[in-house]
Amino acid sequence: MRSAYCGTAVPAAAFALLAAVACPNAGGAQRPSRSRPHVTALTHATLIDGTGAGPQVGRTVLVQGKRILSVFPDGARPIPDSATVEDLSGKWVIPGIMDAHVHMTGAAPDAAGYEKLMRWMVEGGVVAIRDMAGDSRVLSSLARSAMLDEIVSPDIRYSALMAGPTFFAEDARVASTSEAVLVGAAPWMRAVDETTAIPLAVAEAKGAGATALKLYANLPADVVAGLTAEAHRQGLLVWAHATVFPTGPSEEAADGVDVLSHTAYLVWEAAPRVPQDYTVRAKGDFEHTRPDAPRILAVLDSMKARGEILDATLRVFEDEEAHTPDAAGKGIAEWGAAVTRLAHERGVLVDAGTDNMGSPEDTVPNVHREMASLVDHAGFTPVEAIGAATRVAAMTMGLEATHGTVSAGKMADLVVLSADPATDIRNTRAIVEVWKHGQRVVPGGK
Ligand SMILES: [Zn+2]
Repeated sequence: MRSAYCGTAVPAAAFALLAAVACPNAGGAQRPSRSRPHVTALTHATLIDGTGAGPQVGRTVLVQGKRILSVFPDGARPIPDSATVEDLSGKWVIPGIMDAHVHMTGAAPDAAGYEKLMRWMVEGGVVAIRDMAGDSRVLSSLARSAMLDEIVSPDIRYSALMAGPTFFAEDARVASTSEAVLVGAAPWMRAVDETTAIPLAVAEAKGAGATALKLYANLPADVVAGLTAEAHRQGLLVWAHATVFPTGPSEEAADGVDVLSHTAYLVWEAAPRVPQDYTVRAKGDFEHTRPDAPRILAVLDSMKARGEILDATLRVFEDEEAHTPDAAGKGIAEWGAAVTRLAHERGVLVDAGTDNMGSPEDTVPNVHREMASLVDHAGFTPVEAIGAATRVAAMTMGLEATHGTVSAGKMADLVVLSADPATDIRNTRAIVEVWKHGQRVVPGGK
């Protein structure tokens, strides 16, 4: 890579050094502005910072430009004279919320529809989303606009889906995300088998802007292992369904898959054998498989030992059981919640993902309901559920260095609440305002 800073092409390695000194021969080239971004001081807040710590009363958060400059007890440090001060007495601040499992492509018909949907997400407190099987041509454009704050939108991370060739023959959903491309040959929606040149397929996924591979279905264990190793070698994460048919949960966990989606699909670990057919994925034997069966607990402990994350998605199976019971095995929601509870007790990281983010017709994005399900059915405290939707979700997306907690140096992504979420998780819906990349967004405002 070469850079044209100072009007002269220089190797990228020299860029930092060059940028640190004045450009003596700049010849009129633009230099970055040296004026400091404005500081806003949010004072007297009760802070739940996403680290897992309990509520901290009387905190000041200084925001400078897009970042959090510092966090300290009220009055402990001076506030710059030039700062704008916003008194948050009687209010709570939590990190910006993240939905670790959404499906965007097809959710809106056109660019205006996506912009409306994304603004609604931010007004609902959501500052980052992980798309799990979309069209990268749409997603990369939206992700760029979001990153540059050209639109009010959550930050967007997305996957490149890989599955066995038979999946692409069976599943009608792939057509809409592969428009104008041979089905199964798109870098973001790729059929893979033993004959695939895996390093090239992974490189093309990376070129499509994906953060990770999503391993979905019909992949044998040796292919899962090969894809996972190569993705990690090229700096991509690996996200997978908890069973990939016929590859099972313990094989995925042992391979180092970073995030396993849908707790309910762990049920296949205790089945006599994993079927070749992914279409039965939600139809496990939940009635006769104990959540604490030794094989289930062994997978959880394997995930814990490797720092792998469980993307539980409780809410989607609650809705499935309520509205389309024939689509899933009896008892799926209760079983998934029970195993998520055990995972949490045993120290497995659990994120908050919805598999369906909701739409502007809803009162709030569904991730608020997912947090409530973690509390109501899986033994999380409200503070832990907030952690699942912030710090852990940031880890799921590979964003933990810059997102997920209210800490100095991180992006200024905050939600200000008018009621205490530590006493009732449903109070995450009492949104006064949202800060996204240091810009204030007020629900219903412009
Ligand atoms: Zn999904």
